[in-house]
This record gives sequence, structure tokens and C-alpha cells, in this order.
Amino acid sequence: MSYTSRVLEESIEKNANEPEFQQALTEILPTLQPIIEENPQYEQAKILERLVEPERSIIFRVPWVDDKGEIQINRAYRVQFNSAIGPFKGGMRFHPSVNLSVIKFLGFEQIFKNSLSGLAIGGGKGGSDFDPKDKSEREVMVFCQSLMNELYKHLGANQDVPAGDIGVGGREIGYMFGQYKRLTDQFEGVFTGKGIPYGGSLGRTEATGYGLMYMVECMLETKGESLVGKKVAISGSGNVAIYAVEKAQQLGATVITVSDSNGYVYDPEGIDLALVKEIKEVRRGRIKEYVDVRVNAEYVENGLVWSVPCDIALPCATQNELLLDGATKLIENGCTIVAEGSNMSTSLDATHLLLENNVFYAPGKASNAGGVSVSALEMAQNASWTPWTAEEVDVKLRVIMRNIFTNSYNAAEKYGMKGNLSVGANIAGFKKVADAMMLQGAV
Ligand code: NDP
Repeated sequence: MSYTSRVLEESIEKNANEPEFQQALTEILPTLQPIIEENPQYEQAKILERLVEPERSIIFRVPWVDDKGEIQINRAYRVQFNSAIGPFKGGMRFHPSVNLSVIKFLGFEQIFKNSLSGLAIGGGKGGSDFDPKDKSEREVMVFCQSLMNELYKHLGANQDVPAGDIGVGGREIGYMFGQYKRLTDQFEGVFTGKGIPYGGSLGRTEATGYGLMYMVECMLETKGESLVGKKVAISGSGNVAIYAVEKAQQLGATVITVSDSNGYVYDPEGIDLALVKEIKEVRRGRIKEYVDVRVNAEYVENGLVWSVPCDIALPCATQNELLLDGATKLIENGCTIVAEGSNMSTSLDATHLLLENNVFYAPGKASNAGGVSVSALEMAQNASWTPWTAEEVDVKLRVIMRNIFTNSYNAAEKYGMKGNLSVGANIAGFKKVADAMMLQGAV
């Protein structure tokens, strides 16, 4: 049995109740076999056994009082997965589906993503099963403050620097940062995605969605094509989706769908982004409200967004949102590019189907790395107490995304898997972390 297969088997057994983490391990470990064979020192140093085990996992209770005066208890996590190349870095997710398996899959993916970015950031992730959706402003604030009362002990600008993710945007980061400052008396870059008046980076809000479109541009260039005139289907209507729509439209594409967890909107004329922003960013409403204003658009409750014919599909909501049925529909309708805005958007069997049918596919760890990359740029600005302009940030983001594409593409080609960005991203991300771990001894 190969080294990668053995470690995969052992870690699946060891993490028996963690299906999402097992899925990430199954997607990544086998693809590392060629580079492992080329570097026998990795096996001798048990690099894979070390890589699959987080350096530290923190699980804690978050008690808070709701608007009715009742005590509520949530569970929160911070998984500090790997600090070989820099401080732990990765978002906080607030969603009822959050559990240890979800946070571990996200943290594991983050190691490779952060390495691919070319910046000095390790991998981590955190979150809570708290649902901010039906809560008042006060409830969100007291929850964030209570969570920080424990989490602050484990954070620091050179130690662990969280950011946002599902359910955690500028509002939540502001409350967490404020509480950290109160508890430690330190004004430091301990979060990214902060508000602009207190150390946030211009361009961070847009970074993941914009970066995704810069990646799609690179993919199209290999075919001598551009986004002009392309029909793009996007899922989600949160941070990543909104700014993917914005950049896709700027680059000449027509975006025809957005969604939330209740259903999707199909607007053949092209999504009215100002309206989506008004519904989601200002009113915190539901996407079905879109058709109250745009009466020629269609709202499909609980529908499959991937059944809408498109040239390019961009899942931007959550993990496992593109399954076999969706992939089959996309292929039938002639879609040629799938690039993930969300993490692990596509199930393993759906990914294989896409690849077998020559759909050019970019895994989230490559195509959504723009967010964490600009987060690292925010850390650099904070460390030097110097803000950069939006243009400076955007130029750097575009360069980073192009480098990620090239490095992933070349790594795949080197190992005889030309065009397989999934394999390429895993190998390119792995090498730097493995070498850093080797150089630091058995830590
Ligand atoms: P938001 O909370 O801003 O938006 C999430 C969107 O996805 C909402 O439209 C939400 O709908 C939908 N969604 C969430 N959970 C589900 C679900 N279980 N089923 C169907 N729809 C769902 O999050 P982000 O836009 O920040 O994150 C989206 C994805 O992108 C995540 O996978 C995240 O890990 C990834 N990502 C985010 C980065 C960032 O910078 N924000 C960076 C890199 C990756 P509803 O409102 O109904 O819940």
C-alpha cells in the first residue's frame, strides 16, 4: 500500500465521525503521491501523519443572554491546524451546521490555500453553531463578546489571525475585535476583514469574489477566450457571490443567477446587482424579494440552480452544493468551466464527472484564495501602520491569483495531469509546507 493510501486509511479510521474532514483528506492525500515518491524524506519524517493532525483544537462554550432574558449556550471552535509557514490564518464561520468536522475540513484546506497564496500564513479555521440570521443587533454583539472572552487567549497578530466566513462579516468582526482590544489593551492586527476606520484593508470585502473572476480569466485565456458575452451562473448571495457578480459584470459577462438557502433567482436579462446588495447587505433579507422588483425574473424555491443553462458555473454558497445531479445538468447544457468560490463546493464524484467530461475545474483552495490573500495584505499594512490604496491592493490581488493559477497549472503538467488544477493546487500548496516542516524539525 502506498504511503498516501496508508495515511488516508489511518486518518479516516481515526476521525470516524467527521465526514467533511474525511472528504477533504480523500480529495487531497492521493493527489500527493507523485511528489511523495520524488521526496522519500517526507515519509521518513512522517510529514503526512503530522499534516493531518491539527497542532491544536480548541472547543469551548459560549453562554449569552438573548433579548427575552433567557440564557443561551453555543459551542465554538478554533482549530489551529498548521503554523509551519506563518501564523494560523483562516475565517470564523457562524452557522447552525458548524461542528468539528466542518471546521477541520476547512482548516485542512486552508493550509494548502494559504501556501498557494505565496504569503507567510499558516492554516486555521474556527466558528460556532450560532445562527446570526434571526438575531437582533444586540444579540449578535453579546454573542461575539462572549465568544471572545475565551478565544482572545489563543489569538495574536503573530499567533492566530481570524477573518470572516459564512455568517461572519464586518459587523461580527468589529464586535470581536472590539472585545479583544478591551480584554488585552492591545490595538493589533488580530483580525482581518476589519472596518476601514480601524485598520481594515481597502479591497478586502471584494477580494474573494474579484479573485475568483481573475482566476476564471486565466482559465479562459488558455482557450484564447475572455468573459465578454459569457453566461455565468452563480450560487449564493453573500460576500463571495456578490463581488463575483460585480467583477464578472465589469469584465463583460452576463450573470443570470444568484441564490440563498431557500431558492434561486434566474434573471435572463442579467442580475441587478444594486438590488441584490440592497436586499442582502442593507436589509439582510431573502433573495426571493428580488422578483418583487424585477418582475421578469423568476424565483425557484428549493430548485437546482445548476439546471439553468450557462457557459460558466461558480458555486459561491457552501460545501457540497454541486453534486452529481448538478454536474450532470451543467455538462448536458454545455458548461465548460466550473470554478469554486465556496470551499469544497463540489462532491468528489461530481468533480470526477466534470473532469471526465473535459470541464475545466478550479478547486476552491486555488480559486477562492483571493480573500485570504488580501487578508495577508491587511496584516502587512497593519504591521507597517501604512494603509494602501484600493488600486494597489487590487493589482497585487490580480498578480497573486495569476501566480496561483500558473503554479497549479504547471505543477499538474509536471506530473502528467495537464489541466487538472485540483491535483496541481494540492501539490503546489503542499511542497512549501512540507519543506518548512522538515526544516523546523519534528515540531
Ligand atoms: P456569506 O454568509 O456572506 O454568504 C453565504 C451564502 O451562501 C448565502 O447566500 C447563504 O444563504 C448561502 N448558504 C450558506 N449556507 C448554505 C447552505 N447550507 N445551503 C445553501 N446555501 C447556503 O458567506 P461567504 O460569501 O463569506 O462565504 C461563502 C463561501 O465562500 C463559504 O464556503 C466560505 O467558506 C467561502 N469563502 C469565503 C471567503 C470570504 O472571504 N468570505 C474566502 C474564501 C472562501 P442563506 O443566507 O440563506 O444562509
